[in-house]
Amino acid sequence: MASLFEQDIQTLKGVGEKRAKLFHKLGVFSVGALLRYYPRSYEDWSQPFTIEQAPFGTPCAIRAVVLHQPVETRIRKGMTLYKTSVTDGMRDLHLTFFNNPYILNALSEGKEYIFYGKVTGTLLRKEMSVPEFYPIASAPSICPVYRQTEGLSSRMISNAVKNALALLPDQIKDPLPHDIRMQYQLCELGYALEQIHFPDRMESMEIAKKRLVFEELFTLQLGLLQLKYRKKQDTSLPPFIDYSKEFFHLLPFHPTNAQKRAIAEAMGDMTSTQNRSPMSRLVQGDVGSGKTAVAAALCYSVIKNGVQAALMAPTEILAQQHYTSISNMLKNTGISIGLLTGSVTPAKKRKLIEQLQNGSIQLVIGTHALISDAVAFQNLGLVITDEQHRFGVAQRSLLAEKGNHPHMLVMSATPIPRTLALIIYGDLDISILDELPPGRQKIETYAISSRKRPRALQYIRTHLDEGKQAYIICPLVEESTNDMASVEQYAAALQTETFPDKVIGTLHGKMKPKEKDAVMTAFANGEIDVLVSTTVVEVGVDVPNAVIILIENAERYGLSQLHQLRGRVGRGNMKSTCILVSDAQNEEAIARLKILCSTSDGFRIADEDLRLRGPGDFFGEKQHGLPDLKIANMAEDMEVLKEAQSAARYILANDPKLALPEHRGLKGQVKLLFSVFGGQGFH
Ligand code: ADP
Ligand code: MG
Repeated sequence: MASLFEQDIQTLKGVGEKRAKLFHKLGVFSVGALLRYYPRSYEDWSQPFTIEQAPFGTPCAIRAVVLHQPVETRIRKGMTLYKTSVTDGMRDLHLTFFNNPYILNALSEGKEYIFYGKVTGTLLRKEMSVPEFYPIASAPSICPVYRQTEGLSSRMISNAVKNALALLPDQIKDPLPHDIRMQYQLCELGYALEQIHFPDRMESMEIAKKRLVFEELFTLQLGLLQLKYRKKQDTSLPPFIDYSKEFFHLLPFHPTNAQKRAIAEAMGDMTSTQNRSPMSRLVQGDVGSGKTAVAAALCYSVIKNGVQAALMAPTEILAQQHYTSISNMLKNTGISIGLLTGSVTPAKKRKLIEQLQNGSIQLVIGTHALISDAVAFQNLGLVITDEQHRFGVAQRSLLAEKGNHPHMLVMSATPIPRTLALIIYGDLDISILDELPPGRQKIETYAISSRKRPRALQYIRTHLDEGKQAYIICPLVEESTNDMASVEQYAAALQTETFPDKVIGTLHGKMKPKEKDAVMTAFANGEIDVLVSTTVVEVGVDVPNAVIILIENAERYGLSQLHQLRGRVGRGNMKSTCILVSDAQNEEAIARLKILCSTSDGFRIADEDLRLRGPGDFFGEKQHGLPDLKIANMAEDMEVLKEAQSAARYILANDPKLALPEHRGLKGQVKLLFSVFGGQGFH
């Protein structure tokens, strides 16, 4: 027999075929799903105002007696008004309803009700339009508000939930194990469901919410961790010896503590004699935090252990830059390094592949040319991918497949709050470079209105005249996929009106990778003075001579993205400037730009971004890869997420497949949450 939770929504009293269809629109098919259809917000009906004291314009509750039966007026075809007045003994309030004949019988003269709505009108004549109401005896203290759909109001949903709750037995099976509930002080499921929908007090709603948020994140973590464990297969590589200390002596600088820590964590994965699964680690570090040196240290160390290493970058120019700087770091070590990109001649390429096969090249740096079929290694031990957000998981693993379960390191320059990273990169361990090398100059950042643009351009001119370069990030075109027009127009105007004597280059999303690479290279070589671009401008490319970036319509971007863009300058030791142009008037937008002016800490900015705009920006398209959460909010529930994660680890340590009978409920929850993937792997 199907349990109550699995029963069709239509089995509920008051839900017929037609209404069931409306529930389906909201994604609610079963009674269980209805009980998990949590309110969006609550109305506090428990402390009604007097009419005199009720605030204007914000929804509130008022307790009052109906003065006369509602009066019906047909004002035109299809529009009937119902009017009545109510009083609290001191003052009157005028109510209006539209097209709702039910009002005629629902409100009776002389009876007392609680009305909930917005007070409008004037101080002398207060009004309320279409209030919600309940007779005083049956008025809720706190009223749930549900996301509704046409034909299915919040009130109807609330009634259906009430019916469903009434069917719940006293003792319902709780998927959360008892000891987990005790340890994290979480209430029982039955209480939680009741109080999340119809709280006695706001405090009890909070208690219910805490449990439900925990349960959801716990389920999410159980699923993600299961995926992660499943993926790991033992490597045939021997435990390595750590030679990274030796490498440090080759550097012209002292590694930062953060670099040392990240290297030690990665080496820990590769030297372990206990854990034989290959490393899969993400190194996250702000622009300029020195990820290249981390990569080089690891390459050096594994190559000393007799295996090969490969580093893949998303573009030719990035591969080229890595090749140059890593060759430089490793120049006196005897390690042979190859560069493999699309523009290498076929003859050279053949030779290179041969050398990779016979092991005479120990480190290869390249673009996705590295994953072409022809490429094979003698003994690939470490795979590093840079700026991974451009490579899908699939591409990463294609390169890894060229070895026998090699170690894998992913480098990302997008600071993401740690807790979010744990979710997005559920399959990777994480090291964070949260420290910049000493002596880095802060990029001076200013927010200006467009009135001051001429002055900003003048400022750019003085720098161009000294032989420096600048980036300009062009305005976004509303609703337009044609960023080319916007860039070309802007550049043309700049050329004729402002910088007739300078070379202006353009970069936009319509260009082929090769064309973009060519422009970037020309800019890096100093052949272009001002690069007008959309946000496609290359992440991670070093143009030390570019010292100013001007960003139009700055308010349109997320803080993290602005921070990324700002990181295009300040790559050398010259003072650099970022100018944010915005005519935004609203306080939030202004506050956001101020944050950027006041800090250069990418992780702090990411945290603020998360707080102000929610996690959407970070998840981007990846969000589709994760199940939808009903109640937990990544931005607000970080603490709970951490708890849920350690609880999930604890459970899986003893029962990796959730096979124990007492974990049956959990297993079901995981399957349900991950049903977007067809519950794949969770059967
Ligand atoms: P990113 O993390 O953005 O890839 P890079 O690896 O390109 O950063 O490093 C940026 C610059 O900082 C390079 O010129 C590099 O040589 C230098 N650098 C890296 N680590 C240190 C350090 N510990 N001390 C001083 N300079 C460093
Ligand atoms: Mg880099």
